[in-house]
Amino acid sequence: MNFPNVSYKKYPKVTLFAVLLFLFTLQGCSVDETFSNSDPSVVPKTLGAVLEWRMSKDPSPKHEAIVVSSEWRSLNAQSSHYAVWIGHATYLINTGDVTVLTDPIFSERASPVGWVGPQRLIPPSIPLEQLPSIDVVVISHNHYDHLDLPSLKALQLNNPDLMILVPQGDKGLLESEGLVNVSQFRWWENIQVNQTKLTFTPVQHWSGRGLTGRNSSLWGGWFLNSPSLSIYHAGDTGYSKDFVVTQERLGAPDVAFIPIGAYKPRWFMENQHVDPAQAVQVAIDLQASRSFGMHWGTFVLTDEAIKEPPKLLAQALKNRSLTSDFFIAPIPGAILKLDP
Ligand code: ZN
Ligand code: ZN
Repeated sequence: MNFPNVSYKKYPKVTLFAVLLFLFTLQGCSVDETFSNSDPSVVPKTLGAVLEWRMSKDPSPKHEAIVVSSEWRSLNAQSSHYAVWIGHATYLINTGDVTVLTDPIFSERASPVGWVGPQRLIPPSIPLEQLPSIDVVVISHNHYDHLDLPSLKALQLNNPDLMILVPQGDKGLLESEGLVNVSQFRWWENIQVNQTKLTFTPVQHWSGRGLTGRNSSLWGGWFLNSPSLSIYHAGDTGYSKDFVVTQERLGAPDVAFIPIGAYKPRWFMENQHVDPAQAVQVAIDLQASRSFGMHWGTFVLTDEAIKEPPKLLAQALKNRSLTSDFFIAPIPGAILKLDP
């Protein structure tokens, strides 16, 4: 094939555009399989829509840190039935049967490189080296703020028997980075660890870590059934019927972890991220006894003010005549008792 003889030095912008176009056309090529939402009409935003948002967006919200607690320091090896919000979608969960870490990110940035990309507003509430021993890591999808390879490598170094459960299509990426004990799952597939069944469930989102390979791996939530506790973690999601279906198939969880941040502007985010009022609807659909918020206050990914999500959550609960303990936005580092 003949390419026009264009000097990249003479036409750097043309060359950059051609490279981007080439990479973009590769999207969907050379992957084994692509995935879609339970409503297949909900697809990732186009590159044009991304540019439109970035060009039209208001200045980034004022960067401010939320309060972090050191209460977790009173945990010890005998502690059980608790959760601690580490930040973003990362929860340390002890069900009395297994100790699980969800979507662990301890890196300074949610990015493929260390020098650019969304930077932490707060440190992880528990430093990685001070975590208790972890049995299982569950990953909801491969976006950089949920699948952080440096964190996974450090966790497996500290926990040689660590099991890492990922969506279908992500196992190869982890194994190519030297991670072991990795299993991948389609929706409704499950695995037994100790007495706990962990099931991968549908949510409405998408996947991708670059210009190529969008939706070439799956996305979802995790439902944990331990003998004394059932727990649900939604990962990232827009609002859909998936939560009613999950409740019908797996029952009502005792505790649900649901995102309440990264929702503005709605015209761009609605399909992929619930707002706090929709997060309350997700909790109702799941028939969860109690819910805890996440995916806010840690990285600036979208346009809402940093401290807005818990305020809108409180308003949404009031509007539905629900008590404030039905759905809590906890402080990172605080011990959340999950009594059986
Ligand atoms: Zn995501
Ligand atoms: Zn996210």
